[in-house]
Amino acid sequence: MGRIVYVNGEYLPEDQGKVSIFDRGFLFADGVYEVTAVVGGRLVDYDPHMERLDRSLCEIHLEWPCTKDELKIMHLEMVRRNKLQEGMVYMQITRGCADRDFRFPKECTPTLVAFTQTGVLIDNPNALTGVKIITVPDIRWTRRDIKSVMLLAPVLGKQAAHEAGAFEAWMVEDDVVTEGTSSNAYIVKDGKVITRGLSNRILAGCTRRALFRLAKEKGIGIEERLFKVDEAYGADEAFLTSASNFVLPITEIDGRRIGGGQPGPVTRKLREIFLEEATSGSSASAD
Ligand code: PLP
Repeated sequence: MGRIVYVNGEYLPEDQGKVSIFDRGFLFADGVYEVTAVVGGRLVDYDPHMERLDRSLCEIHLEWPCTKDELKIMHLEMVRRNKLQEGMVYMQITRGCADRDFRFPKECTPTLVAFTQTGVLIDNPNALTGVKIITVPDIRWTRRDIKSVMLLAPVLGKQAAHEAGAFEAWMVEDDVVTEGTSSNAYIVKDGKVITRGLSNRILAGCTRRALFRLAKEKGIGIEERLFKVDEAYGADEAFLTSASNFVLPITEIDGRRIGGGQPGPVTRKLREIFLEEATSGSSASAD
């Protein structure tokens, strides 16, 4: 049985979910998106995702296509109708359909679509072994704080990683790590977590935000500063965060083993406390 998808107010079998070739998301990548994890049939950290969506919409001068309550009901319905226990809800809002013209159309109804994906988030085997990553040049635009559907650079980065037998690519600008193609980047040195501060150069990850809160509660220090690729090679530990991976250990960067090639203690602890919260449903979850 196929999935039920959402297209502009309708819940449809996935093969019937269609959008016009004139949709500005298709023609210009004129849209934004969010991906919210689902664990035990509950949305994880829903509110921060919607706060970020609000900001992304505002930055591209696009109105909400529905009320915040309606969007939440849609997310919950998608989980319910697809009987989703573990995985994610993907949702995308574009400026809508109009004849091709770079300028905003005068009258245009935004397109809102969503679908679910199942995935193993809690017992992710990669979390036990750690993953390999490579570094690639960061060739994206400079408004990476907007969660835009313009993802060609991350697609190329992730494909390069895949071809190199790696899980993810960290993007590098002026020798400094910005973030992963679909994750935030961290190293650990002498027990302290180091990650780049927020700016228009990276996406403000919702998992990153939760990690900061949890690390503070547990007395694990996080230093926000730039770090270079060479520093990452010499780190005690490295890891990434994203809604679908939570905290994922990295054991190799560009073929160099990190921390003896095993997930390190700080990373394991952070993943553990993250999972504790996600599975207990005590995070800003919705059900
Ligand atoms: N950075 C980029 C470029 C991303 O695409 C993502 C997620 O897709 C993240 C960071 C992590 O964000 P979150 O933790 O909200 O999933």
